[in-house]
Amino acid sequence: MQDVIRKLLAELGEDPDREGLLSTPKRVEKALAFLTSGYRADIDEVLNGALFSVDYSEMVIVKDIDFYSLCEHHLLPFFGKCHVAYIPSRKVIGLSKIPRLVDVFARRLQIQERLTNQIADTIREKIAPLGVAVVMEATHLCMSMRGVEKQNSFAVTSAMLGAFRNNARTRMEFLELIRSRNRVDAAREPSGMMSCVAED
Ligand SMILES: [Zn+2]
Repeated sequence: MQDVIRKLLAELGEDPDREGLLSTPKRVEKALAFLTSGYRADIDEVLNGALFSVDYSEMVIVKDIDFYSLCEHHLLPFFGKCHVAYIPSRKVIGLSKIPRLVDVFARRLQIQERLTNQIADTIREKIAPLGVAVVMEATHLCMSMRGVEKQNSFAVTSAMLGAFRNNARTRMEFLELIRSRNRVDAAREPSGMMSCVAED
């Protein structure tokens, strides 16, 4: 990978041999390996030992989980907060594992919509809850840095499954609980939102 990064630096009009850039290919390789480490993570290993049987069926919420991901269209970061909720049927996931789960999918080349769905689908698969909800709010540098549609550089996506999809009151309860900014209101009507302008 370091050869490719050197070539990229030259293509950008830089001198890969100048002092400040000598170690850059090595650093970029290391950084990219970390930022895409989700491809090599094993979900079952991440959740290992943290699925518990319980007699509890109230909503479990983990909110304001910081995440950082890379947009697959521009390889530029998008980042923000992720809010996860589920209503257990017979099993729960250790609370500390939810942010780890978010990282597994965020540390890949992503679009925000797919990232949101993958987190929700995985929780559904692993503990078969009565419902799962995931809301993600993110700033996309591919839009804000490039000056494209600045007003849309903040995107909200949501995945609502089971009780959160079928029951408006459950969904509203969740949205009220995570509301720290008015932007979450956009999740009430998730259609037509874009996380990235891929055509550019
Ligand atoms: Zn992008």
